[in-house]
Amino acid sequence: MTDCLFCKIVRGEIASKKVYEDDDTYAFEDIDPKAPTHVLIVPKRHLRGLKEAELTDAEIIGRCQVTAAQIARQRKLEDGYRTVLNVGPGAGQSVFHLHVHLLGGRKLTWPPG
Ligand code: AMP
Ligand code: ZN
Repeated sequence: MTDCLFCKIVRGEIASKKVYEDDDTYAFEDIDPKAPTHVLIVPKRHLRGLKEAELTDAEIIGRCQVTAAQIARQRKLEDGYRTVLNVGPGAGQSVFHLHVHLLGGRKLTWPPG
């Protein structure tokens, strides 16, 4: 996708603070962090969101989640952290390139707002 914000970040056309990268996933610091750790993990391949996901996307979505767990492990967030997928505007999705939020480093309340 040419004018997708996160595709541009993956391609390096927009600057980001990279946390992790492999052939298929890219992780970077959220520009407006909601917790001491707030990292976004995205598939490099454009995927609009979970709502649009097919079974063939299961592996890459799972990889994003496991990447989040690895980052949490590195940052010693094992006491508790949260991975979040906002799905659709009503749930707060504002960027339509699937991304997993990794939030941690503070007490996280339940239920989320
Ligand atoms: P969502 O609201 O679930 O779609 O999440 C989008 C996230 O992207 C928000 O937490 C934003 O703060 C974050 N964001 C928007 N633009 C950038 C950017 N240029 N670099 C890093 N994070 C961004
Ligand atoms: Zn994209």
